[in-house]
Amino acid sequence: MSWVSGTQAGLQGLLNVTVDSLAEYCGLTGDQQENSVFLERQLGLLQRNPSQSAINSEFCAKYLPALVDAYNVQDAAFSIPMRMLNVVAYLPYFARFLLTTRTSVCKTQARRMATASSTPADPAYLVEMCQFLSTLLALQGANSVSEEDKQALLPKLREWSRKYQRQQITRCLKQLEDDPETTVMADGLKQHCEKFLNECGFDGCGKSGTSKLLQCSRCKTAVYCDRDHQKKSWPFHKATCFPAVF
Ligand SMILES: [Zn+2]
Ligand SMILES: [Zn+2]
Repeated sequence: MSWVSGTQAGLQGLLNVTVDSLAEYCGLTGDQQENSVFLERQLGLLQRNPSQSAINSEFCAKYLPALVDAYNVQDAAFSIPMRMLNVVAYLPYFARFLLTTRTSVCKTQARRMATASSTPADPAYLVEMCQFLSTLLALQGANSVSEEDKQALLPKLREWSRKYQRQQITRCLKQLEDDPETTVMADGLKQHCEKFLNECGFDGCGKSGTSKLLQCSRCKTAVYCDRDHQKKSWPFHKATCFPAVF
């Protein structure tokens, strides 16, 4: 579809990034097919949008299970649902989804990259794929990847790393190689992503331990040691608190 063929209303819609427009371009709603050109355009706009984290959070609360379903039915290592998942992979919503549903997205992504018969012509796609797998390896652990896929993936990653010299590719390779320094970094990322799920959200409180903490019943991605800390945190928490469908 070319830019000029869009109607005025269509173009206006393209400039207005909402959770529903993102879902539409990911092919999750409506009769329309997924649209990678429009999705990239909106993701570009979203990066400069001051409400970026609120929009991504609301998107997750509403569409994350549908997005993962759409991801699961793909065969390709790079797909539109993968592209969108990579955008939201650092949010507590995604961490909670992985923990509560026990879905090994990491295993799936590694398998697809290990068994792909061709490499994307555009290195930007490779970087996206490797960045996503790197985040998944941090969140779900390299053990979730089968030994067979690991052995198939390592030479590919070594070649891409040499050829493109991109840190996302090299980091992914080092994680699979169990490089100690990279493992420490990955553990730090996991802690950061899961912090909101098991540590009181009141700034500076630091109380943790899932059993005694109160969970925000709306988003289920924030916990508090008591009602007082929950109340005091609300003015800050409300920007990313949305009713989660999962
Ligand atoms: Zn507290
Ligand atoms: Zn909440």
